[in-house]
Amino acid sequence: MTQTIAAQATTTATFKSLKCKECGAEYEPKATHVCEFCFGPLEVAYDYDALRRTVTRETIQAGPNSIWRYRPFLPVATNNPIDVGTGMTPLVRANRLARRLGLKKLYIKNDAVNMPTLSFKDRVVSVALTRARELGFSTVSCASTGNLANSTAAIAAHAGLDCCVFIPADLEAGKVLGTLIYGPTVMAVQGNYDQVNRLCCEVANTHGWGFVNINLRPYYSEGSKTLGYEVIEQLGWELPDRIVAPLASGSLFTKIYKGFREFIEVGLVEEKHVRFSGAQAEGCSPIAQAFREERDFIKPVKPSTIAKSIAIGNPADGVYALEIARKTGGNIESVNDAEIVEGIKLLAETEGIFTETAGGTTVAVLKKLVEAGKIDPEETTVVYITGNGLKTQEAVQGYIGEPLTIEPKLESFERALERAQTLDRLEWQQVLV
Ligand SMILES: *Cc1c(COP(=O)(O)O)cnc(C)c1O
Repeated sequence: MTQTIAAQATTTATFKSLKCKECGAEYEPKATHVCEFCFGPLEVAYDYDALRRTVTRETIQAGPNSIWRYRPFLPVATNNPIDVGTGMTPLVRANRLARRLGLKKLYIKNDAVNMPTLSFKDRVVSVALTRARELGFSTVSCASTGNLANSTAAIAAHAGLDCCVFIPADLEAGKVLGTLIYGPTVMAVQGNYDQVNRLCCEVANTHGWGFVNINLRPYYSEGSKTLGYEVIEQLGWELPDRIVAPLASGSLFTKIYKGFREFIEVGLVEEKHVRFSGAQAEGCSPIAQAFREERDFIKPVKPSTIAKSIAIGNPADGVYALEIARKTGGNIESVNDAEIVEGIKLLAETEGIFTETAGGTTVAVLKKLVEAGKIDPEETTVVYITGNGLKTQEAVQGYIGEPLTIEPKLESFERALERAQTLDRLEWQQVLV
């Protein structure tokens, strides 16, 4: 299943090794993700002295308008990465949402419009598949809660890699269709994500495929750092006071943190204390529960929530996410499915951004934290919206009203308009009462 790598014209790797997060043992940067000594997770280690000498704000700004402007901070050696325009999504000043919640300076980092498949997963997959190609894999794969399958299938198609993805059989129709269209083999597993993941660990061992979030996980997860870098750059090379982001495995959350620390470390941004707040759905909130109960270990749960994209019952990076929330003075909070639907509607009505259930979770948690007085209105807060609402339409079906059906006649329109305005007034009266 492996093939020899085509010789790259120039390679300038700035990463050195894979390093165990627990015991510090170092490994050659191959397709491996677990420490042989202590079973801790492996993470990419860089030569920060070299980065401090060679990377400036100007060299970054002279790069492509995609995540690859940060290539020296990503674990690939090639100067010719798979670039399908991933990253550099808008950072939107969200004044209407801010006013509604009582905040002063709120921003939305909008990965609902990321390329090519409208979620933040395009970042991690662009990096993982570039590295997979470098390591000689010809077949790539993943265990997915939906968005990852979309991304892996699309970017593999672009790169001409064979692709086989594994999803839980009960995913939203948009996520399934949005994978099949790219022509991969799709395995719909009759079980939840954690069972899909277990199966994939076995397949990774027996088939020699590149699983982006298993044996390529150290490379994959580094892609999320770009969500940290971009926010710094888009804020005019400054850090925010607080971020709010969703948690599934916890990887994204910990890598935004790593991204912030790295830019401080190499002198690209001035040090600042950033609080990290995490969002989970109540029906799958093992990290929020551990935070609430002041535990430093995660008790796995069986997911039951409409927020399927973040429904991981046994989160691989849960303890690291907990640690970051605690040491930064942040928090990890959960909201129920009704609040998630309200969160989706609130963001759409105030900012014109239609997010999926994960984004609804994040906005609802933001609201909950503000109402509980846990976010200071003066803070510059960045909320990460990680996926697109068109993929999870089932979640809001029945909660958003219906179009007014009319005849193609002016009088029919006028009658309908009057009815609509009366209804509007009634709604307002109910609110005022
Ligand atoms: C996968 C996913 C996440 C979280 O991913 P982790 O890195 O596993 O925590 C958040 N939002 C969306 C939309 C996702 O698809």
